[in-house]
Amino acid sequence: MSESPDTSASDGLPSLLDLPASRWREAMAEWVDAPYRADQVVDWVFRKGVYDFTEMLNLPVELRTGLAQRYSVEPPSINRSFESEDGTQRYLLGLADGLSVEAVTMPYEDRVTLCLSSQVGCRFACRFCQTGVMGLARSLTAGEIVGQVLRLRTELNAPDLPVNIVFMGQGEPLDNAESVSQAIGGLQDPSGPGLSWRRITLSTVGVVPEIKRLAELGAQRPRLAISLNASTDEVRSEIMPVNRKWPISELLAAIRSLSWRTRERVTFEYVLLAGVNDHPEDAQRLGELLRGLPAKVNLIPWNELAGLPYERPSARAIEQFRLQVLRGGLDALVRYSRGTDIAAACGQLHAAVARSG
Ligand code: SF4
Repeated sequence: MSESPDTSASDGLPSLLDLPASRWREAMAEWVDAPYRADQVVDWVFRKGVYDFTEMLNLPVELRTGLAQRYSVEPPSINRSFESEDGTQRYLLGLADGLSVEAVTMPYEDRVTLCLSSQVGCRFACRFCQTGVMGLARSLTAGEIVGQVLRLRTELNAPDLPVNIVFMGQGEPLDNAESVSQAIGGLQDPSGPGLSWRRITLSTVGVVPEIKRLAELGAQRPRLAISLNASTDEVRSEIMPVNRKWPISELLAAIRSLSWRTRERVTFEYVLLAGVNDHPEDAQRLGELLRGLPAKVNLIPWNELAGLPYERPSARAIEQFRLQVLRGGLDALVRYSRGTDIAAACGQLHAAVARSG
């Protein structure tokens, strides 16, 4: 965790959102006359959704002005939004430097899932992913990641609805591991959003050294989803160049090195591409590869994307694949993506994930 807020993403002003809310007292100590003033700011930002110091009405006017000159608590702005027939919303969020990222909200009866971006673009170039075509512009700061949650919650206007977070938007979270870890700390901070690790899922294509380092987060480590998508190195390297650096055996060894909490399971995402990775032998090999892990497999039928050379398997082929994976001793579910009509579905942001909540 860095010692001071980042100044890169807030018009030159340090963003307090880079720090967990419980450290705001310390960060503002020089400027506020009593610690409870910092707590009031936390309350405005995290409970009331007010991001303009001058509107924090229970603070003295001078303090409001002084804080506004020194800090920012402004989350990314909403530039555009698109609503799906199924209630999924896709947002184009504007950052202070003029770049933008996408985030998605998926409402369910008893909760809402927020799909966050960790980078502007991505450098991993998975063949089935539109974000991969963009290349990487830059990584997000911790404050920009926490800010996505604040902005989306304000937009949803449902403060009491439990929130699940998935790092499955643009970017590879473990290619921006430090900021993502800081953001996860901030999201779990009891003075801030106070989310349990169970409500946060990090999806990765397999940046092996960073998977091992996740152990350092201890009780704060989020749930993991691994974007696997193939049962052989040959096919995986073809569709996911990252596999040339960290092949399946190294990826699985890193995952096996982690310790699992009671009832915790690691999700393996598997985008089904007709004729590429949906053979019966693939299903059988999956069982062998994942044996002994507390694993579940999410099978994600490919969503057609213009310009990409893949096809979705038939419904029959998908079901046969699922049954074969089950016979191999693994839990397997077919996850149909949400928001396909607004380009918020798998492959349209971060291909290898299911909007599974
Ligand atoms: S699937 Fe994820 S890691 Fe791969 S190119 Fe797309 S955003 Fe990057």
